[in-house]
Amino acid sequence: MNQLLRRVLIGIPAGVLAGTALLIILGHPFLTVVFCALVGACYSASLDPTRGTYVDYLMAGAALGVPLWGLVSVIAIPVLSGHQPEWNAEQMRSQFPALIGWVIYGAVLGFLTQTFNDMAASMWGPETGSRVPTEAEKTRIVILGGGFAGMHTAECLERQFRTNPNVKLTLISDTNALLFTPMLAEVAGSSLEPTHISTPLRSSLHRTEFIRGLVSRVDLEGRRIFLASDPTAPESSPVREVSYDHLVFALGAVSNYLGMVNLQKYSFNFKSLLDAIRIRNHVIEMFERADRDPARRKALLTFVVAGGGFAGVELAGALNDYAHGILADYPMLQREDLSVVLVHSRDRILPELSESLARYAQERMEGRGVIFRLNTRLVDAGPGVVTLNDGEIQAETLVWTAGTAPNPLVQALPLNKDKRRALVVGRTLAVPGRQGLWALGDCAAVIDAKTEKPCPPTAQFALREAEVLAQNIRAHVEGRPLREFHFDSLGALCVVGHQTACAELTVPFARNQSVRFSGLLAWAMWRGIYLSKLPGLERKIRVAMDWAVELFFPRDIVQTIELK
Ligand SMILES: Cc1cc2nc3c(=O)[nH]c(=O)nc-3n(C[C@H](O)[C@H](O)[C@H](O)COP(=O)(O)OP(=O)(O)OC[C@H]3O[C@@H](n4cnc5c(N)ncnc54)[C@H](O)[C@@H]3O)c2cc1C
Repeated sequence: MNQLLRRVLIGIPAGVLAGTALLIILGHPFLTVVFCALVGACYSASLDPTRGTYVDYLMAGAALGVPLWGLVSVIAIPVLSGHQPEWNAEQMRSQFPALIGWVIYGAVLGFLTQTFNDMAASMWGPETGSRVPTEAEKTRIVILGGGFAGMHTAECLERQFRTNPNVKLTLISDTNALLFTPMLAEVAGSSLEPTHISTPLRSSLHRTEFIRGLVSRVDLEGRRIFLASDPTAPESSPVREVSYDHLVFALGAVSNYLGMVNLQKYSFNFKSLLDAIRIRNHVIEMFERADRDPARRKALLTFVVAGGGFAGVELAGALNDYAHGILADYPMLQREDLSVVLVHSRDRILPELSESLARYAQERMEGRGVIFRLNTRLVDAGPGVVTLNDGEIQAETLVWTAGTAPNPLVQALPLNKDKRRALVVGRTLAVPGRQGLWALGDCAAVIDAKTEKPCPPTAQFALREAEVLAQNIRAHVEGRPLREFHFDSLGALCVVGHQTACAELTVPFARNQSVRFSGLLAWAMWRGIYLSKLPGLERKIRVAMDWAVELFFPRDIVQTIELK
C-alpha cells in the first residue's frame, strides 16, 4: 500500500477518536470530527512510524496541542464568532483549561497513532517505499559495545533513520544489558538489587538488531567483525562474522594494573555488575569467617580500596556504610575490628572536584571511620597482604579502581592512539583518514572542538558524543557537512557515604563558574538526578523502592553466589 495513504488511513481514526474531548471545547460535532480527522491525517503523515516508540509519539502529540490551542481556541473561534482574537493576558488565562484540553488531545492522538501504527505493522508488515532494498543494498551501521556510548548511539541512530529501509543498524555487545555504573557502588554496598541498575538492550532498542557476542577481531580492510566462538557450540561451528559500511567503536575501558601481575591476581575489579556482586558476597564471607576466627579477625575485616577517584571514593563510602550496618548481625565482632582503607597516590582524593570539596569529602569519610593513605602507591599484593611503597596492610580484601585503559581490542588496532592508547578521532568523532570508522566514549580520545581540551571518560560525555556521532553518520550518508563535538560539562556529584554527597555544578551561561555544596542536599540531588537518568520507568520504580526499603530495614546479609 502507498506509504502516504497508509499513514492517512491510520491518522484519520486516531484523530477522530482522540477528538472526543475536543467536543467539549469546540461544540459543533460535525465540524469537530472533520477537523480532528484532518489533524490526525496530517500528524500521522508527517511522522515516520517506529514500533513501540510511545513516548516519542505522546510527546510530539502533546507538543502539537499547544499551537493548535493558539490557532483554534485563541484565534479562530473568537474571529469566526465576530470577536477579536483572545490574546491579551486576561483572556489567555481564561483559556488555560482549553490549553489543557488541547494538550490531552495531542497526547491521546500520539498514543492512538502509535497503537494503530503497531497494529498496521502486525497486519500488513512494515511500510514499504517504492521498492524494498535488498540486504546488499543497505548501508550497514555496526556499533561495538552496549555501554552508555554504544547504547545511546543506537538510540540516536534509530531516531535519525526511523523507518528508513536503506539503513540496517546492528549493535554487538558481550553483555545483554546497559549497566548504570553510577549506581554500582550501591550494589556492592547492598543498597540496590543488581538487576535493578541494568537495562536490557533488546527491549530498549526497537529497530536495531542486537547480537550478544564477544568481538575478537576487526578486519579493517575487509570491513568485517569476527565474534569469538561460543564455548558451548560444537568445535566445527563456523566463527560468526558481521560486515559493515560504518563501524562505531564504543568498547569502553578496562582496569589497568600498570603491569603488576599480583595486583591483578589478588584484587577485585570494580567495573561490571558481576564485580559488584562478587565484592558484596566477599564482604559477607569475610564477616562470616571473622566471626569464627578471632586470630585473623583484623585482616579479615580490613577492606582496602585502591584509587581515590569517583569510583574508589564511592565504593569506600558504600563498603564502610555496609560493613558498619551489618555489624549488629555479628555480635562477636567489634567496631574496632573493622577498617576500610583508601589508598591514593596523590595528596588529595577526587581530582575531578575542587580541592575544598574534596577535603570536605575526606573529612566526612574519616569521621565515619574510613582511613586514608594519601601519597601512597600499591606495589604488590599476595594472599592476605597488600604491599604499599611505605609498608604493608594485612587485608583479605583489595579492590582496584586506580587505573583504567581503553579496551584491549581498540589498543591493538593499527590506527592512531593517544598516550592513554585510546583511539584518536577528529572533531566530528570520525577516525581520520578511514572512511566509515567512528569512535566515542571511554575507548576514544575525543577533543572538544571549542575548548580544544580532551573530553573526560565519563558517561556524561559519552551520551553527548553519541548524539553528535549519530547525527554525523546520517549527515555522511546523506552527503551533508558534519558537526564538530562540543559539550560543557554539567558538573560532578559524588556520594561519600550515608546521606552525604559533594556537588560541583556548572552555572548555565556562565563559563568556568560553578556552585559547590555538600551534605544532605547534595545527596538528595544525587539520588534525584541519577534516578531520572536511569533508563526505563520500571527500573526507576524498582530503585526507588530499594531506597525506600533501605530507610526502614537493615542491609541484607544473604550470600547469593558461591565464592571460590
Ligand atoms: C564504578 C563506576 C562509577 C562511575 N560513575 C560515573 C558517574 O557517576 N558519572 C559519569 O559520568 N561516569 C561515571 N563512570 C564512568 C562511566 O561509567 C563511563 O565513562 C562510561 O560507562 C563510558 O561508556 P562507554 O560506552 O564508553 O563504555 P562502557 O559503558 O564500559 O561500555 C563498553 C561496552 O562494551 C562492551 N564490550 C567490551 N568489550 C567487548 C567485546 N570485545 N565484544 C563485545 N562487547 C564488548 C561491554 O560489555 C560494554 O557493554 C563510572 C564508572 C565506574 C566504573
